[in-house]
Amino acid sequence: MNVYDSERVSTMLINNGWNMTKEVSEASLVIINSCSVREKPLQKLFSCAGRYLPYKKKYGLKIFIMGCVAQQLGDKILEKASYIDGVFGPGAEYMIPEVAEKEIFPFISNQTDLLEREEIFPASSRGNIFGKYTSYVTVMHGCNNYCSYCIVPFVRGKEVSRKSKELLDEIKLLADNGVLEVTLLGQNVNSYKDPDSGIDFADLLYKISEETPVKRIRFITSHPKDFNIKLAETFAQISKLMPYLHLPAQSGSDNILNMMNRKYTVSEYNKKLDMCRKACPDIALSSDFIVGFPGETEDDFNQTMLLVDKTGYDVIFAFNYSQRPFTQASLYEDNISSEIKFRRLNQLLDLQKQKIKEVRNRYLNRVVKVLVESKSPKGSSFMGRSEHNLITHVYDSTEDDVGKIIDVKINKILKNTIGGKKYERN
Ligand code: SF4
Repeated sequence: MNVYDSERVSTMLINNGWNMTKEVSEASLVIINSCSVREKPLQKLFSCAGRYLPYKKKYGLKIFIMGCVAQQLGDKILEKASYIDGVFGPGAEYMIPEVAEKEIFPFISNQTDLLEREEIFPASSRGNIFGKYTSYVTVMHGCNNYCSYCIVPFVRGKEVSRKSKELLDEIKLLADNGVLEVTLLGQNVNSYKDPDSGIDFADLLYKISEETPVKRIRFITSHPKDFNIKLAETFAQISKLMPYLHLPAQSGSDNILNMMNRKYTVSEYNKKLDMCRKACPDIALSSDFIVGFPGETEDDFNQTMLLVDKTGYDVIFAFNYSQRPFTQASLYEDNISSEIKFRRLNQLLDLQKQKIKEVRNRYLNRVVKVLVESKSPKGSSFMGRSEHNLITHVYDSTEDDVGKIIDVKINKILKNTIGGKKYERN
């Protein structure tokens, strides 16, 4: 979502006559988009901002902070780093061009009411400058779920869905610009409800598939408690919908899930996976896990290991628990030592490393469709993503393949990626 927001702000500035530069010495404005979902990125923000200070002193560079930390800390950012010129919480980014042009410094906005608008970015922010062939589109922002560890409802506000008409217009514009694949974003896309027509997320997927020329659709993130049969069936019904589902479990222990206020049990989570596999047997699954949540016993952790072992995820994203302000869990004692957290995290990641070989071997000798996007970091060939969202190296690809969806026969399963050669169908 931060990538999407950064792209909106960049496009808005470009449409106001600004240019992008990769050289900080040439820049008159740098904007840092911040994340407060864990403690580490918050700490990194200040060291990142500090690196630009010499440029401010030498060239008069202006430094803005946007994103969730801007919302969380507001004017406290200036107490910590008085050289910051602007602080814009989510929803306030539309003011960036005006503040920069009129030099209204220091500027601080972290009003919560700004988060509750359907369209938080103006139409002038639409378009794709970060990627030529793939793009993100936020369908809703905010969250009402209040998982006990999560700061998002406090910094991104209540759940607000965008109108499907606006979304279709935005996606059509992207398609006109050459975008072939869109990833729909929301903290909990399952809660999507068009404020005009009341259509739900599954209906929105049908509409995007039928009414826009994009070739591929993906979405993140689904909350397991709301994932339902109607949405599962879209994987069978919509050929443009790619067979990849991110369904964050967070833990494999009912006790911890309850403490996390996730509102489902492991058995209910598994039923949702079965629902999805029934509609799309070949679906690639991914998930998020938090280890070391307050009170997590060795037995709770082993149940998480069991879930990962049994499910066979293509990808997992696992993190150590870190206490966040405002949250319910911040009232619990953070009583799992960092040694235990790291040991458990490594154990989980080691298990996933083993599982990946097993899970991804199913792609070997298969023909997959790859949207070729960019040069591989090593060698002269190109790479892109398969339907299952795996980075795929196409060893005999050329510049001509970029921007096309091509058939590739997989002959290599690598550590984080897969690879193969172009395949001609008869
Ligand atoms: S669903 Fe839970 S984890 Fe996800 S954004 Fe909402 S509160 Fe946070």
